[in-house]
Amino acid sequence: MGCDVSHAQQVTVLGATGSIGLSTLDVIARHPEQYQVFALSGFSRIDELLGLCVQHRPVCAVVPDEAAAARLRQGLATAQVGVEVLVGEAGLCQVASAPEVDTVMAAIVGAAGLRPTLAAVEAGKKVLLANKEALVMSGALFMQAVQRSGAVLLPIDSEHNAIFQCLPADYGRGLEAVGVRRILLTASGGPFRELSAEALHDVTPEQACAHPNWSMGRKISVDSASMMNKGLELIEACWLFDAPPSKVEVVVHPQSVIHSLVDYVDGSVLAQLGNPDMRTPIAHALAWPRRIASGVAPLDLFAIARLDFQTPDDQRFPCLRLAREAAQAGGSAPATLNAANEIAVEAFLQGRIRFPEIARIIAQVLEQQPVEPVASLEAVFEADRRARELSRHWLERQGR
Ligand code: NAD
Ligand code: MG
Repeated sequence: MGCDVSHAQQVTVLGATGSIGLSTLDVIARHPEQYQVFALSGFSRIDELLGLCVQHRPVCAVVPDEAAAARLRQGLATAQVGVEVLVGEAGLCQVASAPEVDTVMAAIVGAAGLRPTLAAVEAGKKVLLANKEALVMSGALFMQAVQRSGAVLLPIDSEHNAIFQCLPADYGRGLEAVGVRRILLTASGGPFRELSAEALHDVTPEQACAHPNWSMGRKISVDSASMMNKGLELIEACWLFDAPPSKVEVVVHPQSVIHSLVDYVDGSVLAQLGNPDMRTPIAHALAWPRRIASGVAPLDLFAIARLDFQTPDDQRFPCLRLAREAAQAGGSAPATLNAANEIAVEAFLQGRIRFPEIARIIAQVLEQQPVEPVASLEAVFEADRRARELSRHWLERQGR
């Protein structure tokens, strides 16, 4: 009585078997008194998900279909671990919004994460947002839902986490009101930063996935190589910080040590630095407004020795320009851009198209699909569906 029995935060990790999911579980395992895993989800790596269940003992696990559920249940029974297995998008939404849950890590890749992430937002959870595609697709609706429910939205994308750390606590009053001149969004430039336009024609999925600084899932790795990742992040920043696209400038910084900067009217520029390891933004968001250890090595500035900055090249990397145009167009344009990109990246990873064709497909689809207002989630999914269809037609027409 009267004593402070602070309970451990119950955390749902959507996309637990992925790169961000595993980094999240690594941080959580360092602080067992403060965080407990309530639910984990996996999609194709069911055996890995079983291993994570055995290790982290969640209450629930979510898999895509009944076949995966049967396999997971069998494995859990053999291991004598009691976990409730749920199925499909309904299962994801359930564990994202369950009353027991305090915090949701939204780390599913792509449009597949939109409904579960929104379910967490609508339930007023603390939402750790890695799934940038969800916000890109449905920005206005997403941010309205955050306002309505009182959810606490914390960015996991390293750049947005850095910007968040460099902004004052009351930035919600408006960037101008808090004296921000512009946001400087850093980009590594990806593995092909120095390649000529001709050389880009022949790059392989394996080369695209070998990022010089970050180890990530395959889709975001290709996005980093094409600079579409920075384009999606530009749109993400506009929504998170209520900034017009013109206030967000992209700066290529090959070392990925500065994770982004905020430029103030008095000439001060604040930056957040750190080793390129996602456990830093994950630990920051998990513990916010406190700080916890993440397992990331201290930054060795003497070893880094120098930091370089360059302007992005729109000619070789048109995806960034396409994303900026979609941000300016608003409405359904970002959802169209995202969907066309998802299809194009998948086709590239399957070896069906050349790397420069990713941007070509997206440009075509953006041209063909009119920009419409998106007043409902249905309208967002309709734009997404039609853009995927147009992208597939493009592939068919090219005989891919
Ligand atoms: P990943 O491919 O390693 O993992 C993706 C996860 O999503 C896996 O757990 C997979 O099972 C799940 N998944 C895939 N398709 C699904 C579907 N249709 N339905 C349900 N679940 C599905 O990806 P990642 O690198 O961890 O990235 C996850 C998200 O975080 C992406 O939106 C990415 O842009 C963002 N992000 C990642 C990094 C990074 O360093 N990896 C950095 C910033 C942002
Ligand atoms: Mg990023």
